[in-house]
Amino acid sequence: MKLRRLIPQLTLTLGFLIAAEKQRVLKPGWNLFSPDQDVQMGKEYAQEIERQFQIINDPALHNYVNRIGQRLVNGIEGQKFPFTFKVVNDPSINAFALPGGPMYVHTGLIAAADNEAQIAGVLGHEMGHVMLRHGTNQASKANLIQIPAMIAGGIFDKGGITGTLTQLGIGLGANSVLMKFSRTAENDSDLFGARLVHNAGYNPVELARFFEKLQAEGGRDSRFKEMFASHPNPGNRIKNHACPN
Ligand SMILES: [Zn+2]
Repeated sequence: MKLRRLIPQLTLTLGFLIAAEKQRVLKPGWNLFSPDQDVQMGKEYAQEIERQFQIINDPALHNYVNRIGQRLVNGIEGQKFPFTFKVVNDPSINAFALPGGPMYVHTGLIAAADNEAQIAGVLGHEMGHVMLRHGTNQASKANLIQIPAMIAGGIFDKGGITGTLTQLGIGLGANSVLMKFSRTAENDSDLFGARLVHNAGYNPVELARFFEKLQAEGGRDSRFKEMFASHPNPGNRIKNHACPN
């Protein structure tokens, strides 16, 4: 008897929770940097990335990824970061974004995706990290004593930002606060990305399918590990994002 009474109640509660998730307002957290400083920082790190990795100049491939990216950018409400989309010649399945908008997709990810909606899903997710400013939020929390002094000391006026930040451990490595996010941040980026993907007319569930596919194959193929190292699965991606709005 008790259980029978409980089930409709639970269903109701779950319904409210799902509705709340759909309406959840996503905003950047506390941050010592300004959005302009995210942009300046991202530009400087982008130069470093583009020295380290081979960027594909093939216009057809670049235009393809850029077109998907711009479709998603159009769905962002309010102030946007100046997003750029580039393809990195690397067989590992990965994509990453720098603060302020530079975004990179590996050729391995494009090859592994089953459809365009999956690529859009990954891009949307990465754009979530940029728009919600997860990188500089984490850097701020980890270095709240040193960063105000560095900003006051004029690092953003003199250039050479990355050198100074790297001394604090705010670099581009896989475990850097700029590149590896908390599960909460992953969850928020999933939701942000799913909304963008939905606005652009793609099926948002494809991102979850792509992550599940990678996870299923991840144990056997080292190419998948990089993606999961920097984007820990918050759990239940399909259930959470089957129908975002
Ligand atoms: Zn992520």
